[in-house]
Amino acid sequence: MIDSALLGLPEFEPGSVWLVGAGPGDPGLLSALALHALARADVVAYDALVDPRILRLARSGAMLNYAGKRGGRPSPSQPDISARLIRLAQAGNRVLRLKGGDPCVFGRGGEEALALAGAGIPFRIVPGITAGIGGPAYAGIPVTHRDTNSAVTFLTGHDSGGDIPGGLDWDAIARGAPVLVLYMASRHLTKITKRLLKAGRQSDEPMAIISKATTPAQSVLVSTLGEIARAPVDIQVPAIVVIGRVVGLRAALDWVGAPARQDRGEPS
Ligand code: SAH
Repeated sequence: MIDSALLGLPEFEPGSVWLVGAGPGDPGLLSALALHALARADVVAYDALVDPRILRLARSGAMLNYAGKRGGRPSPSQPDISARLIRLAQAGNRVLRLKGGDPCVFGRGGEEALALAGAGIPFRIVPGITAGIGGPAYAGIPVTHRDTNSAVTFLTGHDSGGDIPGGLDWDAIARGAPVLVLYMASRHLTKITKRLLKAGRQSDEPMAIISKATTPAQSVLVSTLGEIARAPVDIQVPAIVVIGRVVGLRAALDWVGAPARQDRGEPS
């Protein structure tokens, strides 16, 4: 239990909605505000990517309400989800809208907040650790490093139509983005790597595919742009892809894998 008064955390008022980021998986990455909200919510409307261990932290008696969207599977529409949040708040509930990672990073948090603002429902946004930062960290990959990159670019691997985002200037990205962090990229990874190579990126540039990041089932595949462009790999989802020289730091910084290596008596 956290001491909400000591931390000066705000009241979760009945009739309001908190849009909360649950982080990429590891419950230890929840914020104090997220724990505070879980302990008080009347309704928890959660996404497909929220770790089940986190839902167990909800107040007993809280109603758990699945409000996920998964590409390619039957799921409620975004307007339906927003309308449901509004209805639940208007009925006087403390509504916790719990989303994987950060609610506003490829998470439609902005759309839901706009709907709430439009309906006059008081709301709060509680940022979470996004998979594109937390995932690489758990793979021993800092997303920025002074010697390699002074910028990092977050991209989605597909647009709302399901194709590789057409509105992006891939040539400019290839030239100007030393480190790329791709969300939702597994489907089009071959296409994206080919596009980057065509725009001048080097085929020996390292990349990492981090699946189920920060969970006990995390796995990391390290490869190169050239290899992935040549031969598609089988990717466990959800997966975050990091492209850039920072991936090389994993050789020295894989702190998740390190204890297991030492247990097996292997050199670390
Ligand atoms: N709002 C979320 C992103 C939602 S989009 C955030 O800030 O993290 C969904 C995509 O996030 C997935 O396709 C995947 O690319 C990434 N993702 C979410 N959780 C992940 C995890 N535990 N491991 C790897 N990738 C993850």
